Amino acid sequence: FFVAFEGGEGSGKTTQSRLLAIWLRDQGFDVVQTREPGSTKVGMRLRAILLDATHQGLSARSETLLYAADRAEHVEKVIRPALQRGSTVVTDRYVDSSLAYQGAGRALDPEEVAQINSWATGGLVPDLTVLIDVPPSVGLRRMASPADRIEAEPLEFHERVRREFRALAAAAPDRYLVVDGTLAQAEVSRVIQDRVREILPD
Ligand code: C5P
Ligand code: MG
Repeated sequence: FFVAFEGGEGSGKTTQSRLLAIWLRDQGFDVVQTREPGSTKVGMRLRAILLDATHQGLSARSETLLYAADRAEHVEKVIRPALQRGSTVVTDRYVDSSLAYQGAGRALDPEEVAQINSWATGGLVPDLTVLIDVPPSVGLRRMASPADRIEAEPLEFHERVRREFRALAAAAPDRYLVVDGTLAQAEVSRVIQDRVREILPD
């Protein structure tokens, strides 16, 4: 069983993916909780390159390929082996982040970004994607300060990212849960648990 969390900056997906992992373990599932970018040895180096604030002019295409390389490594070394062992995988970000940030955010052809990522992941798609939706003005206000290269992008960039996440969810409602991330933390996790409970394998 494979769950991905997606959402913009300050949406609370890191917190919520942790809470879901804890809840799933309480239900007796073996859970691998992971995140992108940076969950492998090479991925950690890619993350450092990607988020380095001095890499301002990084081309949108190389950015896309570096995220895809991180993801390929993540899928091959962490996610697939865990699923094969019968573990449940909860990841903080996956392919949709690239469709939103590199596709919509950087204005690349979304079809091309999708193809690159489908190749990078060998076509592995989550059973459920939880989109924690918050207006960027709210999410960015939750960040202490724009810590990395992407967070420092203008508000319009983050608005495009949000729009794309919502469009992806709307196009496949059976594979998505959209939660209002401005709700209280406990409320958000309750909504997520209710949905996950419905689709868990026995
Ligand atoms: O989720 P987290 O904040 O750790 O992600 C690191 C940064 O990478 C974020 O600022 C996010 O906006 C950015 N990112 C991106 N494209 C992706 C995945 C993450 O720009 N495909
Ligand atoms: Mg961030």
